[in-house]
Amino acid sequence: MKRIFPLIVVLITLSVVGILFIQMSWIQNALKLKREEFQREVDNSLKQSREEILGTFIIKEGKFIPNEQSKQFYLQNNFKVDGSFTKEEIQDIIEKKLKQNNIKQPFEFCITNIYKFVILQSDGFQLANEHTPKSIELSPDNALRSHETLYLTIFEDKNAIIREMLWMIIASIVFTTIIVLAFAVTVRTLFNQKKLSEIKSDFINNMTHELKTPLATISLAIDALTNEKVIHDTDKIKIYSSMIKEENKRMNKQVEKILQAARLEREEIKLNVQRLDSHEIINKVADNMMLQVQEKSGTLTLKLNATNPIIEADEVHISNIIFNLLDNAMKYSKEAPHIEVHTLNTGNGMLSIKVKDNGIGMDKETQSRVFEKFYRAHTGNLHNVKGFGLGLSYVKAIVDAHNGKIKVESTLGKGSTFTVILPTTLKA
Ligand code: ADP
Repeated sequence: MKRIFPLIVVLITLSVVGILFIQMSWIQNALKLKREEFQREVDNSLKQSREEILGTFIIKEGKFIPNEQSKQFYLQNNFKVDGSFTKEEIQDIIEKKLKQNNIKQPFEFCITNIYKFVILQSDGFQLANEHTPKSIELSPDNALRSHETLYLTIFEDKNAIIREMLWMIIASIVFTTIIVLAFAVTVRTLFNQKKLSEIKSDFINNMTHELKTPLATISLAIDALTNEKVIHDTDKIKIYSSMIKEENKRMNKQVEKILQAARLEREEIKLNVQRLDSHEIINKVADNMMLQVQEKSGTLTLKLNATNPIIEADEVHISNIIFNLLDNAMKYSKEAPHIEVHTLNTGNGMLSIKVKDNGIGMDKETQSRVFEKFYRAHTGNLHNVKGFGLGLSYVKAIVDAHNGKIKVESTLGKGSTFTVILPTTLKA
């Protein structure tokens, strides 16, 4: 799979580029064919004009000629434009023939004699035009009286051909864009799938580790409890049983976290909304954590400055989110964590709760992704801190359910500040 994926991407990219190339050369070919067709139509118009001029000459002379042979003979002896046709008559004939061949572009013409002297010409005709004129010998072969040549210049409108093919060009652009977009979406989906499978295996590794450690401790404690020396020592029994209880609690907490995430997945957040004193909740959670903070020789300072700390919210969920933020502040600190919790009433009836730490901080990419489920920063020094990457996605889901907002500001190596903004009154 690891090798097939880039191979597929390269192959599809090559195919798309190939298709683009083929399409461009098709369009170019089509343009060339159109131009050739146009030139053929001009040639046909010239030939037809010549026939018409010869025919008109005979009619003008008022001759009745019974067959083709005598017609040729008559024309060889008598045909000449000079003095027989006006400029307008020739112009009309050419125009008619061009129209019959679907040519609507403006044209200029000129008729010269054997010495290249101009006999008739349209107003704008110049022999030394940048559009080389096409010419046709008007007089029949072996003509005795004259050798006249018709020159015709057509102002070929290059854009007209492109305009004619516009639908084809637009359709190719549209279809190619669709193919490229579909390809981009497919590649992105593949990348996402790959990332998801990596995240899943990370999660399984973390979960195994998180559950294995307490299981191992419990197993050791049970072994100790069955030891002859311990079995009669009530103090030791107490120590080992409380150890089992602690580990059991830890495991329960982990399982609860996973279940919580699964519940969120099914969008089952049911809020038990009450009027709560947020300061009371913060104090309670902080009290529970104080021991752990002190163990790490850290400090936990509360600056609860909100004048109205009362909010309408779910007590359990709000306690959990404060706990998760404080827990992270402690987990992601280098040595002694110095954590501060601030509260403040902001305008429009909102309460802001800030949790600030002096921990390892996060880069911009991590900051933009911390609220994604299962996301964990892949920094080397983080690997000793285990977690499922579920805590902050839970915090965000709960804050959202309370119509609140959460944001993070952080500097790598300096610390992070998470700000939760909750409405004091929850509108249904
Ligand atoms: P977990 O802590 O279980 O990994 P979270 O959802 O709580 O999951 O956090 C997601 C990630 O965000 C963490 O793995 C960590 O990389 C980063 N993170 C969260 N809080 C902090 C913090 N206070 N300081 C630095 N990084 C943090």
